[in-house]
Amino acid sequence: MRKSFSAVLKAIPETRDKNKSTYSQHDIVMSAFACMYFQDPSFLAFQQRLENKLKSSNLKTLFEVKDIPKDTQLRDVLDKIPTENFSDVFSHMFEQLRRHHHLKEFEVIPGIYLCSVDGSQYHSSKKVSCEHCLTKQHQNGVTSYSHSVLQGAIMHPSQRQVIPMMPEIIRNEDGTKKQDCELNATKRFLSQLRERHPKLGLMICGDGLFSHQPMIEETLKQAMHYLYVAKPDDHTYMMEWISAYKEIPSYQYKDDKERTHNYRWQNKIPLNGKENTVEVNWLEYQLTNSQGKITFQNSWVTDVNVTRDNIKTLVNAGRCRWKIENECFNTLKNQGYHLTHNYGHGKDYLSDNMYILTLLAFYFHQIFELTDKKYQACRVTYGSKRQL
Ligand SMILES: [Zn+2]
Repeated sequence: MRKSFSAVLKAIPETRDKNKSTYSQHDIVMSAFACMYFQDPSFLAFQQRLENKLKSSNLKTLFEVKDIPKDTQLRDVLDKIPTENFSDVFSHMFEQLRRHHHLKEFEVIPGIYLCSVDGSQYHSSKKVSCEHCLTKQHQNGVTSYSHSVLQGAIMHPSQRQVIPMMPEIIRNEDGTKKQDCELNATKRFLSQLRERHPKLGLMICGDGLFSHQPMIEETLKQAMHYLYVAKPDDHTYMMEWISAYKEIPSYQYKDDKERTHNYRWQNKIPLNGKENTVEVNWLEYQLTNSQGKITFQNSWVTDVNVTRDNIKTLVNAGRCRWKIENECFNTLKNQGYHLTHNYGHGKDYLSDNMYILTLLAFYFHQIFELTDKKYQACRVTYGSKRQL
């Protein structure tokens, strides 16, 4: 994995003056990655620990860093590398996992992987900003600056690990007046995802923001399936259409806790009242407790034909969407990865690259958890990754 990552880093075009650069780009990015990998909250403390000969030699042998760069150079160089350069690491790792049959258990329908997408903010400040920050004007005249990302990750209801894909950064580009947004980033994300994995069977899973005609058409255009949350209030025309049926397909059963699982669905219905409306398949799930009180309910639209045989699978797939929030973003923010910790903001790409490197460290750890028996045993013994 490290070799494959190194190869990508060595291929990044050099942007600096050769005579002035002391450290290679490879050594700089790899050192920053090592800091995330060891979950160190501060470059400075990390550098100081590296003064210790043993640690330094660890960085050299584990990460093949020849010369350990200084803190400031590290930030300067990382600020100049366009984030897009890291995308190959994600697709290479994914292909390796897939080819070696580690992802077989992740297929939600035979040959189809569920890719959940969601936006997340990883920088927010009223002071620290750059030209690419998203801005928000508050009523009291204060402007806040933020960086966000549209993240996609492969997941499965019964698998604890999630496999992050190369995210799409939501950022304002030079010369554009209109702010970038989650929906635009999603369109770019889907098109990039298809380009990187031309033949991969995918089902995109997203919240209510996505269950509208343009996004559905965009998903189908990329030859992907979709499973998008469809709240009744957002789809009054469709809900009226459904309620006009005398009877619709349904299925229910009681579990050993006396809870009732209710499923209802209807295929081939219009999403909206427009003449060119897209036709969708609708499904709903309700969970009621032993007193008959509804404790959970949600509904979705999909292009997959819903049947008595696949309704449970589809509902389970739709319900595991929370994993992107919980297993991915929350882990990055609160489980030792220091995602929102300010490592430095930079002018161009520093803030975004810090997100990517943190995500890559998380990805490496996810791969170990999924594939490496020794790592799994070490985690049992040492608990937190930081401790390990
Ligand atoms: Zn910024």
